[in-house]
Amino acid sequence: MDSLERAESDTGRSGHRPLERQLTEVYRLFFNHYGPQHWWPADSPFEVIVGAILTQSAAWGNVEKAILNLKQAEALDPLSLRQLPLDELAELIYPSGYYNAKALKLKSFIEYLGNAYQDSLERLFSLDVPSLRRELLSIHGIGPETADSIILYAAHKPVFVIDAYTQRIFSRLGLSPPRGNYATFQALFMENLSPDEKLFNEYHALLVRHGKEVCKKVPLCDQCCLRQICLHLIQR
Ligand code: SF4
Repeated sequence: MDSLERAESDTGRSGHRPLERQLTEVYRLFFNHYGPQHWWPADSPFEVIVGAILTQSAAWGNVEKAILNLKQAEALDPLSLRQLPLDELAELIYPSGYYNAKALKLKSFIEYLGNAYQDSLERLFSLDVPSLRRELLSIHGIGPETADSIILYAAHKPVFVIDAYTQRIFSRLGLSPPRGNYATFQALFMENLSPDEKLFNEYHALLVRHGKEVCKKVPLCDQCCLRQICLHLIQR
């Protein structure tokens, strides 16, 4: 069963409550329009974590350049990253921006992983979702979006990642929660969809694609696959 079938079968099981139906409809329109996104683009869970930290306030293309630098320096593993002097690490990740701050954040994560889990992501990811999220949020430089990206895309556990694209698209659709902050947007998805890692992965990836290409700051509504259901258009 693919993630679209799973989303539709979730809605069928739940008796078509309105929000579930709307969330599933948005997903169906996205998936039919864009197809599968195959996220997260990385070769290993550790690379996902590094990418999740580097992508803070950065375009993905610049993150890819920074990750390529780390790969070429053979520094994309916990031990090598720990041994790399801070200034050299900052230089390698320069393309991702805020490189001094991000070098410190990467070092903080590595220190935590070494001290608490002897560099074993497997042991770290054996925690349940609430414990894992709590621990990640206690590390310098890891906020809710980064923590949830790590949990979903590196640990493969079902948590919905919220970002600026998601908030913008759902606000324009007229589906944002009354107090639109990270936690309430996350609850919107997690309380109305089954906890399905593959579905959450694909849904978030599709939202990012749509936010980058169509529902931009100035939206390209005439090219939008959601135009029949979007409040932003209905209210114009
Ligand atoms: S119709 Fe326009 S505002 Fe609504 S989701 Fe599409 S691009 Fe965004």
